[in-house]
Amino acid sequence: MSIDQRATLELLYKVSREFATALDLKTVLQRVLFAAINNVGGERGSVVVMDDNGRAVDSAIVYGNQVRENTTVQLRETVERGLAGWVVRSREAALVPDTSKDERWLRREDDALERSGAKSAICVPLLAREKLVGVLTLVHPVPGTYNAENMALMQAIADQAGITVMNARFFSESQRQARVMTALAEGAVSMNASLRIEETFERILVQTRQALQVETVALGMINEASGEIIFRAAIGDGAQYIKGKTIPARGGIAGKVTGDGRGLVIPAITSETLLAEAEQLEGRARVMACAPIHAQGKVIGVLEVFNPISKSFDGDALLVLTGLGSLGGTILQNAQLYERLDSARRRYRDLFEDSIDPIVISDLGGYVQEANTQAATLAGYRPDELNQFLIEQMHDVNFEKVGRRFEHVGSSAVIYESILYNKLGEQFPVEVYARKVLFDDVESIQWIFRDITARKDLDVLREDLAAMIYHDLRSPLANILSSIDMLDGLISNEERENGEAILRIARHSIDRIQRLIASLLDLNRLEQNQPVGEKQPAKPAELIAEAVEAVSHAAEGRNQRFLVEAADDLPVVLIDVDMIRRVLINLAENAVKYSPLESEIQIVAQLHKGWLQISVQDSGPGIPETDRERVFDKFTRLKKQDGPGGLGVGLAFCRLAVQGHGGRIWIESAPKQGSRFIFTLPTST
Ligand code: ADP
Repeated sequence: MSIDQRATLELLYKVSREFATALDLKTVLQRVLFAAINNVGGERGSVVVMDDNGRAVDSAIVYGNQVRENTTVQLRETVERGLAGWVVRSREAALVPDTSKDERWLRREDDALERSGAKSAICVPLLAREKLVGVLTLVHPVPGTYNAENMALMQAIADQAGITVMNARFFSESQRQARVMTALAEGAVSMNASLRIEETFERILVQTRQALQVETVALGMINEASGEIIFRAAIGDGAQYIKGKTIPARGGIAGKVTGDGRGLVIPAITSETLLAEAEQLEGRARVMACAPIHAQGKVIGVLEVFNPISKSFDGDALLVLTGLGSLGGTILQNAQLYERLDSARRRYRDLFEDSIDPIVISDLGGYVQEANTQAATLAGYRPDELNQFLIEQMHDVNFEKVGRRFEHVGSSAVIYESILYNKLGEQFPVEVYARKVLFDDVESIQWIFRDITARKDLDVLREDLAAMIYHDLRSPLANILSSIDMLDGLISNEERENGEAILRIARHSIDRIQRLIASLLDLNRLEQNQPVGEKQPAKPAELIAEAVEAVSHAAEGRNQRFLVEAADDLPVVLIDVDMIRRVLINLAENAVKYSPLESEIQIVAQLHKGWLQISVQDSGPGIPETDRERVFDKFTRLKKQDGPGGLGVGLAFCRLAVQGHGGRIWIESAPKQGSRFIFTLPTST
């Protein structure tokens, strides 16, 4: 072994030991450069590290014994187009004795021939396990300095350096990943600490500023309706200029980022590239990065960071920012949901307290949990005193409706009338609405007790009124009728003709009043589900004849004729005769009222599937399809100008009376053919 070879071996041994003690990529790169310059010779050197995709990810430059500040971006050009680029592509070492004579030497402006003259250069690839991990370049100011021997030494150093650089690169990558993970993990912990939206904004901003070491952080949310981005929060220098600002839909960098759903780094802000954002910091923004805030696969806003303390963003900045954006999105959405829920809950509480109705909330077992002031007042307790009362202690629960264990109470209300008891044992009539609700997130039953004292009082009044009509109107009417009968006997023979006509009018009028009173009283009774009066057998033909007779006077006045079709052998019906007679008279009276002068009214009685069916057909205006059910409701009168007067109780009475007998009543009416009212009664056979 020659002395030279020994020296080389020693050198390599030293170099490899030196390399091996460092793991930090920057330190390794500097050591490699110093080793090369010191042992091969040269004025300056550079080393560029590439990732697996051949992208320059780190670098170092040394001038003499000085480390130069540089950015990897500056070196990219050399790696892409210069001598280093050739080495990268060919994976071969290059010896350039005279840079002015070699095409591969990229001449930058600061390296013009007349400024720095011709030089000598060596450039070697750094390989590890067949992979290219970087390029090492040495430059000597005197052309022709480097020779094959220098190149061999350089190659030997590069062989040692390759694996060390790769390890250091892995180490720095894993460290960066660890940093990203730590930033995100810390962010997650801190951001999750609150559910209040404003506080969550603040936490996201603080975490982002801490993780990325920037002057200013801003957070914008997309307005779903307009698409605008509204900056809801900002911290750091000039935050006051950003907060509250709005960027039009798709505008600025934020608009681009939300549109693409991907983050962006803007290394140098100019007024043209970024209208919205450049304005935001009143011209102070120099460098920025912006990432979307994602929630459930949707972009809901942006996170913007301005002016890193270290002047530029490293390769992980966007990764961290994007991670924080995604994290923040989920947390923001939760906060939004929580806030909505909270306000819904508050609204319910307000409604609960402000309601004019007494409301009690019980658990599903019927134990009172809460009562509003109205309920407490009505029951005569303080609201807290009612807690732990059983709902059945407060009122008579209709268990048939709600179920023994309240199992029939669902989200739509179960309604019943009941009695509520107060502390003194007094009773209040109430209408109860029981419904399942979520009260403070717990499934509960809401009981609304509507005080119906006033309505009940009215019912009593109505009953009193009915009784009054019955007694105080009916008996005087009967007296009038008997007076008329007596008058009849007193009329002299000469005045008989005129007198009888007058008396007949009086009798008809009294009949009508009596029928009206009887129908009103029946209506009242039937509405309360009371049975019809005593039933007696009646012949349909006779019934119809009596009804026609009752309205004959009115029909004669209008020159109308009744056509009756009712066979004598129709089966007998068992009915409250007076009531059904009044039904027929009502229908016949209406037919007279609504048919034109000199028209015909047809009444037909027939047997149909075991039922007696009676129809009254007029030739009036008819009744539109939409009203055919409604006219049977109480006090319903179809709007017609100049139509005959009435109360709107006649048909309501007819329906209840017919149904009270087990029958049915309905209308058939073709346009311009009048109306036909039909009702059925069960036959006694
Ligand atoms: P009233 O006749 O006292 O108004 P009813 O209950 O008998 O009350 O009738 C209710 C409404 O039905 C009437 O106001 C009228 O609009 C309509 N109606 C009843 N009978 C007829 C008919 N034969 N032809 C047309 N409309 C009718």
